[in-house]
Amino acid sequence: MLSIKKVENGTMNMLNRRSLVLGLLSSSLIFYQSKLTFGHDNSSNSGNIEQYKSSEDVLIIVDMQNDFCPGGTLPVQNGDRVIEVINKIQKKFQYIILTQDWHPEDHSSFVTTNPKKEVFSTKKMPYGNQVIWPPHCIIGTKGAEFHKNLITNKASFIIRKGFRKHIDSYSGFFENDRVTSTGLDGILRSLNIKRVFVAGLALDFCVQYTAIDSAVLGYSTYVIQDATLPVNIGNSVQETVNNFKKNNVGFGKLEEFI
Ligand SMILES: [Zn+2]
Repeated sequence: MLSIKKVENGTMNMLNRRSLVLGLLSSSLIFYQSKLTFGHDNSSNSGNIEQYKSSEDVLIIVDMQNDFCPGGTLPVQNGDRVIEVINKIQKKFQYIILTQDWHPEDHSSFVTTNPKKEVFSTKKMPYGNQVIWPPHCIIGTKGAEFHKNLITNKASFIIRKGFRKHIDSYSGFFENDRVTSTGLDGILRSLNIKRVFVAGLALDFCVQYTAIDSAVLGYSTYVIQDATLPVNIGNSVQETVNNFKKNNVGFGKLEEFI
């Protein structure tokens, strides 16, 4: 135990005072480091949140692929415009995971596999209603590649989904049968992740499903509003916002949550 006592000249013993200060400093540093890891990126000056990267946070970037951007087969209007925001916010995360839609060319959700159906109509599958899509993100094609402007080299993992012919997959956690796991939950648990931030495309499908699964699995979950855009079919955007509220998913700018 440290002792503080007066010495003959009336000041605290210098050695003990130094020990006390060092002791206090190191104990608070241990506490701080248990929650936060300091980032090495000093290139930005956009506020305090640049100062740290929490080891309990993950950024999941959903399906930022060519086919979901202008010029692709299932484009989200202005979908490529969110890439700049996504690249910027990557600097605030220690853990980044990408999801990648990854379909065989005869996937059961494609209109080419269902010639009597219209695009964006639905059909019954054993696991429920399935939207009919134009062929997109076919394994090994340019359309399935990540958009060239997306920074991908900071990501630790890429979760591929939808590669089983008879099951579509919107969520990064489970395929649309809601049973088949992608493995993402196991990765997050082994990394001791507590908070999940979701960005990417499209807000009303894969982002929504990923975020709601994340919340249901027990992670504090936030969708970064300026880092996502919707396909916007019917009432899909309003339903998405309602579902976020129901499931306690935060929806706003990153600065509001971090
Ligand atoms: Zn798909």
